[in-house]
Amino acid sequence: MTTDPEISLWTKTSRERVDAPPLTGSATVDLAVIGGGYTGCSVALHAAQAGASVCLLEAHQIGHGGSGRNVGLANAGLWLPPAEIRAHLGDAAGDRLIALLAQAPAEVFRLIRDHAIDCEPVQAGTLHLAHSPKGLRDLQTRHEQLSSDGAPVELLSAQDTTRRTGSAAFHGAIFDPRAGTIQPLAYVQGLARAAQQAGAAIHANSPVQALRRDGEIWHLDTPQGSVRAKALIQATNAYHAGLPDTRQDYVPVYYFQYATDPLPEEIRATLLPGGEGCWDTGLIMTSFRMDQAGRLVIGAMGDLGHAGSFAHRGWITRKLAQIFPALADQPLKDGWHGRIAMTADHIPKLVQIGPNALSAHGYSGRGIGPGTVFGRMMADSLLSGDPARLPLPPVPAHSESWTGLRRAFFEAGAALTHLVKARV
Ligand SMILES: Cc1cc2nc3c(=O)[nH]c(=O)nc-3n(C[C@H](O)[C@H](O)[C@H](O)COP(=O)(O)OP(=O)(O)OC[C@H]3O[C@@H](n4cnc5c(N)ncnc54)[C@H](O)[C@@H]3O)c2cc1C
Repeated sequence: MTTDPEISLWTKTSRERVDAPPLTGSATVDLAVIGGGYTGCSVALHAAQAGASVCLLEAHQIGHGGSGRNVGLANAGLWLPPAEIRAHLGDAAGDRLIALLAQAPAEVFRLIRDHAIDCEPVQAGTLHLAHSPKGLRDLQTRHEQLSSDGAPVELLSAQDTTRRTGSAAFHGAIFDPRAGTIQPLAYVQGLARAAQQAGAAIHANSPVQALRRDGEIWHLDTPQGSVRAKALIQATNAYHAGLPDTRQDYVPVYYFQYATDPLPEEIRATLLPGGEGCWDTGLIMTSFRMDQAGRLVIGAMGDLGHAGSFAHRGWITRKLAQIFPALADQPLKDGWHGRIAMTADHIPKLVQIGPNALSAHGYSGRGIGPGTVFGRMMADSLLSGDPARLPLPPVPAHSESWTGLRRAFFEAGAALTHLVKARV
């Protein structure tokens, strides 16, 4: 197993490239964007297509944050079932967000087609797997709610789930045909390339170190350049760094993944033959999917960057063998992790960080579709001056309580669970 948790499999297999030199000198634009993930690149693409001058500044490489490290499940909706979304937001805002995010995977796959993004798109649906009888009861409730909202989801029996996954470890599943899998880093790099082709200036290795408003204009400073802009979108999410007073609080939660080598054809044909991406109902969740080369990519909650991370490695090896006994001897490689911006209510937040300035964060582990949709709608709202075009009403600030303690709680819980279960 490799040991650098900051280098993902996706960096090794992405076929998309974007040439994004650091910003040098000064630029004046309609819209400045901080952060080159799905949210920022979607803002840049849609604003440039609408005719605005745009400058996107990314501290590292495009996709350095969650967008380059995730599982690649392009899902419809949020983590929460519809009733909980309405309970948090009220019926009107809840209905609107549910409807917007129901079509998020369609928007992602359409962008991929329109811009010929080379990111292994497979729109074959996802399977939300019941890891226990209680997990199955939760899925039944979720299925009822989704169905009554008109979502084309299907509740599968244990036998059907075994047939679809190639594993006998699950008690049933919800199949969502709207969703699918992508190579996540290639998707964000393709979005950045498309934004550039639409006229946006895209600069990597350009951390914004200072941000101020002077009169009607935002001023952003990077090590070698500066940008003046009428409007600003901060899309830094869980990787926000180098700027104080974010007003976008979240609980950082780590999630790690490992991949097998490309599997022999006879094994590969028996695992996920329909090409669905999967995650389960476990409190310390597990996900798995195939990539285009036939690697099985498996992950769970946990931080690989500390001394106790051996518990995560041991556990995932056993978990793989438990789910797919045929893979018991397959070595796991390319371990990496990423940071998720979790909010207490699992609802993403739009923050009005100043006049003509917004930030979006807190997708709580589901940002491929939402980041793409929120980016498009934030660009539209700021350029048109119409706040009603936002996906959610913005708040002046978002704070979370006990973030350090809750982060430690999540990691200790995952490590302990993995330690105990690795030894049974
Ligand atoms: C391991 C993992 C698994 C996940 N799995 C899934 C999944 O299967 N499906 C799904 O839908 N979602 C998933 N998510 C969530 C999803 O990846 C994120 O919600 C999404 O990538 C957020 O995109 P973003 O553009 O908002 O932020 P990010 O992609 O994190 O981008 C923020 C960017 O801002 C940059 N930045 C920060 N500070 C500055 C600065 N001062 N100046 C310039 N740039 C700056 C960072 O370098 C970073 O590149 C997962 C997340 C993780 C970590």
